[in-house]
Amino acid sequence: MAFEKEKTNEFTNIKKVIAIMSGKGGVGKSSVTSLLGVSLRKKGYDVGILDADMGGSSIPKIFGINSEKANISSRGIDPVSTSTGIKVMSLSFLLDKSDSPVIWRGPLISRTIKQFYTDVVWGDLDYLLIDLPPGTGDVPLTIMQSLPVNGIIVVSSPQDLVKIIVKKSVDMAKKMNVPILGIVENMSYYLCPDCRKKINIFGKSNAKKVAKEMDIELITQIPIDPKLAQLCDEGKIEIYDKINHLLTDSFSNKITLKLR
Ligand code: ADP
Ligand code: MG
Repeated sequence: MAFEKEKTNEFTNIKKVIAIMSGKGGVGKSSVTSLLGVSLRKKGYDVGILDADMGGSSIPKIFGINSEKANISSRGIDPVSTSTGIKVMSLSFLLDKSDSPVIWRGPLISRTIKQFYTDVVWGDLDYLLIDLPPGTGDVPLTIMQSLPVNGIIVVSSPQDLVKIIVKKSVDMAKKMNVPILGIVENMSYYLCPDCRKKINIFGKSNAKKVAKEMDIELITQIPIDPKLAQLCDEGKIEIYDKINHLLTDSFSNKITLKLR
């Protein structure tokens, strides 16, 4: 089925749109989105991140730009740039600090996210990453219907019911006619700093098996890394690439190859 897609403004040209999904919150969707953005940016791509998780917005904090405000001009809404030049749009840039958490109904959330696509002056972007709200409910579905998404990344963690999540994502992707680029398993294992062994803290992962069964690639398995949590908390994710560039490089390489 074909759906009418929203269009960007005349000041914007976006080559690829990638939506990042998860079954539930807290599995690291925003961290994974940010890591991918940082890695693509380091390779010289123009990258934007659209924070569509209004209920659990964390992209501005991860990049240390949570006290910024978006400038609104006659052209539209200007995104906020991070220290390496990733352009970010989030509802928090439009709200006063005093505002309570966003408890909007689905249709209003969907409309706002669409507006972040149509009315934000993104400029030229190679990749726009969308940090979707968790789940495969109405809001993610409407967004996938109305924005020209080129691929979906499903983020899961070992304690997740990954099979059910992947199944739901596959169904949704089929309905939307959008390819699933693959699964990223976050908090996959803990690498013992002394013995260099992988320890399965959350039990044995079955991501590999599920990916194989469903014929989807397991793109990468990201370890539990206290340093990553710390940098996200301090708003310094852009430094993480220096700590573990092998991981982030291979992740972003796979994504660029798949979307060529
Ligand atoms: P989501 O967007 O799915 O709700 P977040 O990306 O906000 O999840 O991550 C939830 C919490 O887990 C954050 O405090 C984050 O710093 C931490 N976290 C995410 N991934 C990892 C990881 N691989 N290792 C350690 N902590 C992580
Ligand atoms: Mg999040």
